[in-house]
Amino acid sequence: MPEGKIVKALSGFYYVLHNEELTQCRGRGVFRKNKITPLVGDEVVFQAENDLEGYILEVKERKNELVRPPIANVDQAILVFSAVEPDFSTVLLDRFLVLVEFNHIEPLICITKMDLATANQKQKIAEFAEQYKTAGYEVILTSSETEAGIKELNPHVQNKISVFAGQSGVGKSSLLNVLRPGLELKTNDISSHLGRGKHTTRHVELIKIGNGLIADTPGFSSLEFNNIDAEDLTACFPELQLASKNCKFRGCLHVTEPKCGVKQEVDSGGIPAYRYKHYLDFLQEIKDRKPRY
Ligand code: GDP
Ligand code: ZN
Repeated sequence: MPEGKIVKALSGFYYVLHNEELTQCRGRGVFRKNKITPLVGDEVVFQAENDLEGYILEVKERKNELVRPPIANVDQAILVFSAVEPDFSTVLLDRFLVLVEFNHIEPLICITKMDLATANQKQKIAEFAEQYKTAGYEVILTSSETEAGIKELNPHVQNKISVFAGQSGVGKSSLLNVLRPGLELKTNDISSHLGRGKHTTRHVELIKIGNGLIADTPGFSSLEFNNIDAEDLTACFPELQLASKNCKFRGCLHVTEPKCGVKQEVDSGGIPAYRYKHYLDFLQEIKDRKPRY
């Protein structure tokens, strides 16, 4: 039986990509019994009835599963931030990074609209980019207007499933349009899909960029730390996680504990003060959260 990947779900049909061809498949009743709903991104075994139509017989085990948008097997989240309009914000970036890290999805930071930045702003962005690279992140500076950085971004989307994340208006649709000439998404299109639009059937589609796939709907739109506990937060800051190996106490949360490896690293300038501040602010936010039942 052939195997393929679901790249689109629409009105009860699943579109399965196999050898660069699409087969429009229905799920078999067995999925309803087992409460498995095939998702975009699923690797499936299917049976073709003819050239165009078929049935999904089996959904392979998932590596992960996003709820909004409903996609399985997401490899990478591309965190899109604009240099200006709206201005780049490290606190918002750190919030997205925590959510992506917590979901064990590989982040890639993409800073767009570099063509609109002044020399001063470019310099500031370059400094932040260096700091995030030091923390262990990949950072790419782009412009969808001049196409600067697009050649550098392209290899990072190959052979994997990516979702965009980022505020509305930062340039996600524009990026997709330059990555895939001819796509011609209306700008601001991608954000209008945010998952609670007018459509009752949520339409999700993976857009092919060479050998890579990018979801047409952004993820991580809820910026709440609902499922994250205080003890989970250090691991969502890779450079804090590394420094915490030198904390004297197990379970150190790096606030007022003595002999804290993280605080030492902040004091010596190895960790930027704003990253540590965001960690403390997020920790407080988590501690202040009302318990849920
Ligand atoms: P989205 O909401 O994140 O999908 O953002 P859009 O792609 O719709 O972009 C929002 C606005 O920013 C549009 O008016 C775009 O033309 C503009 N824009 C996006 N990327 C760039 C860029 O790299 N340079 C410039 N100058 N404008 C951009
Ligand atoms: Zn510590």
